[in-house]
Amino acid sequence: MPFSNGAREDHHPGVRSAFEHVARRNPDEPEFQQAVLEVLECLSPALSMNPRYATERVLERLCEPERQIIFRVPWRDDQGQIHVNRGFRVEFNSALGPYKGGLRFHPSVNLGVVKFLGFEQIFKNALTGMGIGGGKGGSDFDPKGRSDTEIERFCQSFMTELHRHLGEYTDIPAGDIGVGGREIGYLFGQYRRLSNRWEAGVITGKGLDWGGSAVRTEATGYGTVMFTQRMLERNGRGLDGLKVAISGSGNVAIYAVEKAQQLGATVVACSDSGGYVVDEAGLDLDLLKQIKGVDRERISVYADRRPGAQYVEGGSVWDVPCHVALPCATQNELDATAAKTLVNNGVLAVAEGANMPTTPEAVQVFREAKVLFAPGKAANAGGVATSVLEMRQNARRTSWSFDHAESELAQTMAGIHDRCEDAAERYGSKGDYVLGANLAGFEMVADAMLAQGLI
Ligand code: NDP
Repeated sequence: MPFSNGAREDHHPGVRSAFEHVARRNPDEPEFQQAVLEVLECLSPALSMNPRYATERVLERLCEPERQIIFRVPWRDDQGQIHVNRGFRVEFNSALGPYKGGLRFHPSVNLGVVKFLGFEQIFKNALTGMGIGGGKGGSDFDPKGRSDTEIERFCQSFMTELHRHLGEYTDIPAGDIGVGGREIGYLFGQYRRLSNRWEAGVITGKGLDWGGSAVRTEATGYGTVMFTQRMLERNGRGLDGLKVAISGSGNVAIYAVEKAQQLGATVVACSDSGGYVVDEAGLDLDLLKQIKGVDRERISVYADRRPGAQYVEGGSVWDVPCHVALPCATQNELDATAAKTLVNNGVLAVAEGANMPTTPEAVQVFREAKVLFAPGKAANAGGVATSVLEMRQNARRTSWSFDHAESELAQTMAGIHDRCEDAAERYGSKGDYVLGANLAGFEMVADAMLAQGLI
């Protein structure tokens, strides 16, 4: 469906004209258009309630990044061959605070993908209530199969350009797909060399001995499950005794498994881009962490090492019957066909650990089937929220215990949940977390923009 047809008659005229504006100006960026459409189509009631949002063209301003940086990243592999990748940083909106958002290293990265992620990040960060703006970055570099020294050289080259745009009061990156603790270490090391400053708050996801926060590694996965638990509790049940399927087996997925198990669920499946594993007895978390986190192996190896587990090459992890589905891999990985299978298998709740993993058609399937659905900008905000906890500890030259950081995360996730719930109710759509998240996030950012003049 062409984007310009996404606007509907019943949308506020300000929403319709903003759709058209964005579609015309960003024709080759389908992910960005999808993310914008998903937000804007929830905003008609806000524009009706506050006409200044339309008369002062807040939507058009919000959809245009404040700054977009694209740069060359040359690096040399272990054989001495030279490679040239492209680096990006989109500083999208700083009305609420300095730009904050992760870096993604994956061959699928391009400007449109980074803009979609940066746009989502604006509202996600607003929902945390912690005073941070939205940004995102990355590169089309493929880390798969690269040695440690190649990763190190790439990160150093990437930071050699990026560093001039960063600062703890300016723009603070973190990890995302392909960027974990190892990469954050190389990036921070290069930033320090270039700036000659120990500016811990310039990047988050650092190691615990050099400025990192307890729970940052776990935070996105944990937070997604905490949000799911609260959403289920509002409907009179908890995760205890339920079957959960999770896509991906990276940072977010692994810690979603851990928290779901702690809350009494049985996690029966997870995946990577090659296929998925089913383990009806419940995933062996230690084995999973060893295979993915330490050995950096494919998920198929899990079935080789775990009696009773099966590996399915290709296919969809959403074919596995479950009560709760947590997409934690990548964008548009759960389509309408998968959603229908989940509904037919009796799914009760879906929460997005990844960014925009559910296609709009799939969201519609869940909506019609009355499945509880938590959008990523709310459900996976625990990662960025804990990044802010890391920055707070850095500023105070202190470090918190695991339990303290986890209880702060739990409070933040409860706050995000309740902000979404409250906005949905205020606008007459009780229980609709998509509407609630978009309206609550938008109001905060838009009001700050209006208060700060024509920015
Ligand atoms: P990782 O790189 O640690 O893991 C990504 C996982 O997803 C890997 O298992 C990868 O498999 C899998 N995957 C990637 N593409 C596909 C695909 N097309 N089909 C199936 N599996 C796929 O990344 P993260 O866990 O950090 O991020 C996952 C998602 O969560 C992303 O959408 C990210 O934006 C989002 N997110 C992450 C946050 C964080 O704190 N890390 C914060 C908020 C959101 P393979 O190894 O085969 O590629």
